[in-house]
Amino acid sequence: MNTLVLWDIDLTLIDARGLGHDWYRTALRATAGLDLVHVPSFPGRTERAITRELLTAHDLEPTEELVSRLHAALIDVATRERELLPARGHALPGAAAALTALARRPDVVQSLVTGNLVEIARFKLAAFGLDEHLDFEIGGYGSVSEHRPELVLEAVRLATAKHDREFRPVVIGDTPHDVDAALRHGAVAIGVATGRSSAAELRDSGAHVVLDDLSDTARLLAAVVPRG
Ligand SMILES: [Mg+2]
Repeated sequence: MNTLVLWDIDLTLIDARGLGHDWYRTALRATAGLDLVHVPSFPGRTERAITRELLTAHDLEPTEELVSRLHAALIDVATRERELLPARGHALPGAAAALTALARRPDVVQSLVTGNLVEIARFKLAAFGLDEHLDFEIGGYGSVSEHRPELVLEAVRLATAKHDREFRPVVIGDTPHDVDAALRHGAVAIGVATGRSSAAELRDSGAHVVLDDLSDTARLLAAVVPRG
């Protein structure tokens, strides 16, 4: 069976060094004229979940209309400031080699399950030359739901429809949220301890395989497509 690899972005493939957080500050000011005083927790959460918490904490009703306007403002600021990404952030060790190695396998399709909006996902990965081997059309993004497991479901659904075949999904991410989202839909969960969660925490959350980082390409390949 073919494998669908679903990558997380932040602290799995890249570290944007808080730039995403700054974009929220600008977007909130542009949308509601407010200073950011409450900073939601970001790791592993979707844009929709972060936005609802952010708006509520600033005494704003998180209506669909306001969420849409905030997301539009977020895309605006990211469009203006995306050239800051390569200077401020960096690709994580082994990320480029991992994507390239998996792209060489005819039985693997690579896309994303990320809390980011698709537009921002593209900016973040293109800034570090990591966008080439990923099919953005079939990803699960932060606009879909507040609940990360639904992003996995969406990506599997889109990949199955596009390729007209069943896939074995493999989720790769840095937080227990990524692991949980995978396990809920019977996907293989690979934890990478390059974020704020330790290898032990990722193991405890149920990850099938935990890597310290992506630098050992052979080990990653073996975790994604076990021989047999
Ligand atoms: Mg992450």
